[in-house]
Amino acid sequence: MGRGEVEQLYPVMVERRRYLHRHPELSFKEQETSAFIADVLQKAGVEMRTKVGGNGVVGIIKGSLPGPVVALRADMDALPIQDEKNTDYKSEVPGVMHACGHDGHTAVLLALAEYFAGRRDLIRGEIRLLFQPAEEVCPGGALPMINEGALDGVDVIYGVHLWTPIPVGTAASAPGPMMASTDEFFVDIHGRGGHGGMPHKTIDSVVAGSALVMQLQSIVSRSVNPLDPAVVTIGSFHAGTVQNVIAERCRLAGTVRCFNETSRELIRERIASVVEHTASSYGASASLEYVPGYPPLVNDNEETARFFKVAGGLEGIKTELTQPIMPAEDFAYYLQRVPGCFILVGAGNPEKGAEYPHHHPKFDLDEEAMGHAARILIALAENYMQEWPQPASAE
Ligand SMILES: [Zn+2]
Ligand SMILES: [Zn+2]
Repeated sequence: MGRGEVEQLYPVMVERRRYLHRHPELSFKEQETSAFIADVLQKAGVEMRTKVGGNGVVGIIKGSLPGPVVALRADMDALPIQDEKNTDYKSEVPGVMHACGHDGHTAVLLALAEYFAGRRDLIRGEIRLLFQPAEEVCPGGALPMINEGALDGVDVIYGVHLWTPIPVGTAASAPGPMMASTDEFFVDIHGRGGHGGMPHKTIDSVVAGSALVMQLQSIVSRSVNPLDPAVVTIGSFHAGTVQNVIAERCRLAGTVRCFNETSRELIRERIASVVEHTASSYGASASLEYVPGYPPLVNDNEETARFFKVAGGLEGIKTELTQPIMPAEDFAYYLQRVPGCFILVGAGNPEKGAEYPHHHPKFDLDEEAMGHAARILIALAENYMQEWPQPASAE
């Protein structure tokens, strides 16, 4: 695969990305985006399944030679943010914006559909293209697509996120845990209200709640393995009305982030136990609502090594090892089922206005990053197919 062949795809990637940028759709409402994708696939002669797990589209490109099934994934949803950029491709939908770059991901995968559809005689096995809806809200679109067979028979999966915190021209990943799980929890403490001057007749929910905030700090510091990063944060604490009334109720809300399922399960159990026992030690009762979010994203070691090997050889792209980052990503669900690698492709460039963080009203990306993403995904897929079948692993 030459750089020139992908450069031919570049103008149409930009055109499609800008079209999608002007016409963003919120999670689970991506009907027009989904129809746009299906239209391109149809014109490229790509076999497809539509309405997979909602608005998902699966493109299937079978090669003429036997081999593995290589899946590539792009997400397609936008965010409830008002676009504050000054570009001719800014959002035309009030209050809705592609502020995370998923328009770019879709444009890259559409270009790959055309690229691979024109090279069936060189494909060993199958290229499976997953256009996934609803990444931005949990529970998102990955699980419904998996439940409807999108991953059936898949041997390996790769995905990218165009990423403005990294300069354009750099691509980053890490073996093992790379993005955090995100769970939320809500605690209601129920005491007995009363006169501020007569505490002995009451059960003070504020005192019980305050103790709970402190007790919860011991989970990360005393229960979790110190070599596993984890966060337990109480972000909100609401109780009471006026200064001389002891509050009957108090409500706390928090978030949990970590990088492996062992810590995640441990923290969940410890929160339940600490909530129950702290409240009861103050004579109060408590209820806990725990809402699991996306799991930790864990890259396969071998596939991450493949990324560094093949992307490191691409002209104009520098690879780097990233530190784990705390945002969550539902690509994690695919990686729980098949090996693969998720890659952050640098899209930051202050000279082109691509200097704002993801989910910012002025978010934009350096579109050159789409060319890098396309070349990396093509190189990974082609390398995987070339090396198939892998040398027999240990019996
Ligand atoms: Zn996002
Ligand atoms: Zn995103």
